[in-house]
Amino acid sequence: MTRRKKKPKGTCVFCGKPATTKDHIPPRKIYVQTEPDDLITVPACRSCNNGTKLDDEYFRLCVMTGGSNNAEVEQHIFDKLMPSLRRNPKLLAMFMKGARTVDITTPSGIVIGQRHAFDFDRKRLQRIVEKIVKGLYWRNKGKRLGDECYVRDFVLTNQGDFGLPAFDFKSAKWEEVAGGDFRYQFIQVPQDDCLTGWSLEFYRGVIVMTVMTDRLPGTGPTLDDVLGEGA
Ligand SMILES: [Zn+2]
Repeated sequence: MTRRKKKPKGTCVFCGKPATTKDHIPPRKIYVQTEPDDLITVPACRSCNNGTKLDDEYFRLCVMTGGSNNAEVEQHIFDKLMPSLRRNPKLLAMFMKGARTVDITTPSGIVIGQRHAFDFDRKRLQRIVEKIVKGLYWRNKGKRLGDECYVRDFVLTNQGDFGLPAFDFKSAKWEEVAGGDFRYQFIQVPQDDCLTGWSLEFYRGVIVMTVMTDRLPGTGPTLDDVLGEGA
């Protein structure tokens, strides 16, 4: 399989400055397959591309340890993630800060053991969720989301796709990358460039659901608003 190396042109999809690089959406290291040939790249300036390396790594850690129930991913964590953590004390410290132990219970509530769990650094994750959504928007719509558009809130879960009631995802098609290591779907509210609902799925089981909205105070929905009751 040949890989085209085209010179990026146009503007950075994240900040609007001239693009000089291509950035992978989602971060390249997310992919478990060694040589997927259909990765998504978007034009980016060097500062946006390189400015979130630590956040990229942190995002990958959180998604991979999000509980995919996927043996291949688990193996990948031990083969690739642990050595890279040991080489990066700053990242390890950041990650372990959120580590705690929780009970494993049966559906009826009986404690059958313990496992490690992590409290995520949401601000750090949010920066990457926003980059992914802005990159995918550009990929699908052929235009850049304005600076007034941002990710207001997100949920990272391995408990299945619970949907966002304000967005009818049933009508949205899944777009798949790298044999299903990553796939996504989104819904756009008519007459509103910015307001979009997104479902990003990693490793067939770890889902990030989010809403892109604008900064005007009081006008954008929180995730609570669109999740409705029972969330
Ligand atoms: Zn930029």
